[in-house]
Amino acid sequence: MKNEAFSRFSFLTRLPMSVIAQQEIELREKVDKGIALPLMEDFYTIQGEGAFSGQAAYFVRLAGCDVGCVWCDVKESWDADQHPVIDISEICRRVAASGSRIVVITGGEPLMYNLEPLTAKLKTLGVRIHIETSAAHPLSGQLDWICFSPKKFKAPLEEVYNLAHELKVVVFNASDLKWAETHAAKINPDCKLLLQPEWSKEKGMLPLIIDYVKENPKWQISLQTHKYMDIP
Ligand code: SF4
Repeated sequence: MKNEAFSRFSFLTRLPMSVIAQQEIELREKVDKGIALPLMEDFYTIQGEGAFSGQAAYFVRLAGCDVGCVWCDVKESWDADQHPVIDISEICRRVAASGSRIVVITGGEPLMYNLEPLTAKLKTLGVRIHIETSAAHPLSGQLDWICFSPKKFKAPLEEVYNLAHELKVVVFNASDLKWAETHAAKINPDCKLLLQPEWSKEKGMLPLIIDYVKENPKWQISLQTHKYMDIP
């Protein structure tokens, strides 16, 4: 669900400046505590990529990212101030209404926020909680599945190597295959290893990845199947 209808500032325009400033402070405090979060969009769909590809999942796309990947396909998520702040109770209400058994918290970079309150509330719904992250910020929250997708533009924190369930490396250049191995060398032995062609480079990179996986079968291929299915 797109959230334009809940413009963060629309209710402020009718209020005196001092009240507006106070409202803004309270909103920022709620975000700092993780009891309300900037939300770009949320929707029930099919997970298109990674280890759970093909399974129904409710996506919660938090706004805000300071990683800056040149090929990012959700650049509109970067500036959190462009998106409404939504109470975590409302996010959970939407998840419950969907009937989904899996919630994917993504972004943006979702670990810019304290996810403990949101994930604690989601747990009461009995859903599995997955996260997709560059791990450039500390892990937080009760997470059943950590999809770690390292980015060259901001280094991951070391803690993620022991905890990740899935290492998903986006391959933009042929040299990224070698870079992927530097992360695989540090990851825990139970972690799945996935190579995924960057969408705009797929025609060039996929043949390389196919050959690479045949020669290095510890890796699997991940494709962005939601883009083939033309779903979000
Ligand atoms: S980490 Fe994700 S949201 Fe942030 S710039 Fe990179 S691809 Fe985009």
